[in-house]
Amino acid sequence: MSEGLSTRCVHAGEIEDAHGSPHTPIYNTTTFKFPSTADLLDVVDGRKPGSLYTRYGLNPTIQALEAKLASLEGAEMAWAFCSGMAAEAALFFTHGREGIVCLGDAYGGTLELLGDQIRMLGTRTHLLLGRELDLAESRLADGCGLVFLETPTNPTLEVLDIRRIADMCHRHAALLVVDNTFASPVNQSPLALGADFVVHSATKYLGGHSDITAGVLAGRKDLMMPVWAWRKNLGSMIAPETAALLSRSLRTLVVRVERQNRTAQAVAEAMARHAQVARVYYPGLPDFPGHELARAQMQGFGGMVSIEVKGGGEAATRVADRLKLFALAPSLGGAESLVTQPCTTTHHGLPPEERARRGISDAMLRLSVGLEDAADLIADLEQALDGTSRRGGTT
Ligand code: PLP
Repeated sequence: MSEGLSTRCVHAGEIEDAHGSPHTPIYNTTTFKFPSTADLLDVVDGRKPGSLYTRYGLNPTIQALEAKLASLEGAEMAWAFCSGMAAEAALFFTHGREGIVCLGDAYGGTLELLGDQIRMLGTRTHLLLGRELDLAESRLADGCGLVFLETPTNPTLEVLDIRRIADMCHRHAALLVVDNTFASPVNQSPLALGADFVVHSATKYLGGHSDITAGVLAGRKDLMMPVWAWRKNLGSMIAPETAALLSRSLRTLVVRVERQNRTAQAVAEAMARHAQVARVYYPGLPDFPGHELARAQMQGFGGMVSIEVKGGGEAATRVADRLKLFALAPSLGGAESLVTQPCTTTHHGLPPEERARRGISDAMLRLSVGLEDAADLIADLEQALDGTSRRGGTT
């Protein structure tokens, strides 16, 4: 029987160290030496496993991290990257050349990469809404080979049906990639639900401390191997020191995320009761449209909560500016709680009519719930919504 997730977070992939360290050492080197040309060629030609050159990923610190990541996602293989966008780009270059459908809201950078740069190279990309499954299917029937989705989505927390969409993709011999950044492997296992790849901005929950930038792609060996050459030649390799920091963070992933799930639930419930809040987006709320699906395909509802403030975009900006514990910063998944107004940060690059089509109103604030006490976070939100603070302008 395979070990539990918490055990794998601590132990999977770690390599034995001659000095007895319980952690994989940091091989902070760009290259590795060989006793002879014959030994070097064995590794270069793939006859023997071994360390060779760090940009290739053939570095024990990176390989140990990748073994841990593969284990957490239940994947045959995982590659680590220098950022989440680097992981996405390598995937799109490798498996997206017949066309890519992006289903539902996604991180603004992903939408930009697909809608601008990848399109510039002549690849067909289609940025569809989560409910446009029929349209997605007709694109697949036209030969599109890759579907990308986030679930829960950024920032509306829409929950998409991974199993149903995977079946749709496979009927058309297409591949499904799920961005699991918001859920993390603690709350969701896309590969077990039929997805072909999982991608992460490891900058978020996997890193967990807002101090590293990294990315992950995981999946089946036959699909992952061709991505290796793209990563190698795009040069989008994670650094050994960052790999060691990410391994360090993964050891506490379960305790962090489970705590963030509980605190986010409390924050969402408090926001649902607040008179100045028009709407709360959180899969853990029983009346949220994606609640039942989230219960079926997730093990926890996550640490991200979005709210719509009464009074429109300017009122939301005033609330964001008044928050004290929630820092105004465009990221998520760290120990410290963060707030962003998507129209000014993550989705600022989208035209206003496209934001409106996606249900991202100017009055929306996205909260990344950290590891502080729930009562303190709720008190901070309440003072900002009530306009009781003197910092950051007037109501
Ligand atoms: N995917 C999601 C859901 C994100 O939120 C982000 C960044 O915010 C990315 C991908 C890109 O990750 P990175 O910033 O590590 O390149």
